[in-house]
Amino acid sequence: MKTVRQNYEQVQTKIRQACARAGRNPQEVQVVAVTKYVDLETTKETLDAGILHIGESKVQDGIPKWKELGDRGTWHFIGHLQRKKSKDVVGRFRYLHSLDRLSLADELERRLEVIGDELNVFIQVNISGEETKYGISPKELEDFVQAMSKYKFIKPIGLMTMAPHTENQSLIREIFQELKYRQVQIQNTVLPTLSELSMGMSQDYEIAVEEGATFVRLGSTLTGGRP
Ligand SMILES: *Cc1c(COP(=O)(O)O)cnc(C)c1O
Repeated sequence: MKTVRQNYEQVQTKIRQACARAGRNPQEVQVVAVTKYVDLETTKETLDAGILHIGESKVQDGIPKWKELGDRGTWHFIGHLQRKKSKDVVGRFRYLHSLDRLSLADELERRLEVIGDELNVFIQVNISGEETKYGISPKELEDFVQAMSKYKFIKPIGLMTMAPHTENQSLIREIFQELKYRQVQIQNTVLPTLSELSMGMSQDYEIAVEEGATFVRLGSTLTGGRP
């Protein structure tokens, strides 16, 4: 089995190559190491490999790791978040990749205000339209972004999506292109600071980078474990 460090070198090479194909600067792409399949030891190994951004998708798995290693990295909550679990996320995680409803935003804002902290958020958009996926629909997006203006502690920085689980690369590419298109549109009309794109996982991050991803979320290919 390869070490996280070896995997990371391979990932960085592939990101550089994808950037070269797309005429992008590799420094625009941040790697979020998703540690949801691995234990505390491997999470530590990930930080030791020099990766700054750590992603977890469940409060019950992420918080114990944060308690041990929280000050060593920048923590990203990438999974679906229940409103009642907001209190565990604020003050610990710096990024939320999965904002998909205003009721959740209201609760996060309330809790952030209490502790005087900020949270960078990606609005999750269900571009593929699959029923199994979370995220607002593209046609709700503009109103949703408008509604963000009332928050002081929530900082909307970008859009996030998940591509379908498929071998069809051109379909995956279209999904990422569509998210990029929406992001540019919002940036030009409603919110100039909405500049980031969280897209791409182990199976499809090279396509995502070619299509403009600024954050890729990598689990299995980087830290090991499932799938
Ligand atoms: C698990 C997960 C990932 C990483 O998945 P891999 O396919 O292992 O890279 C990325 N994003 C989200 C939202 C996830 O839940």
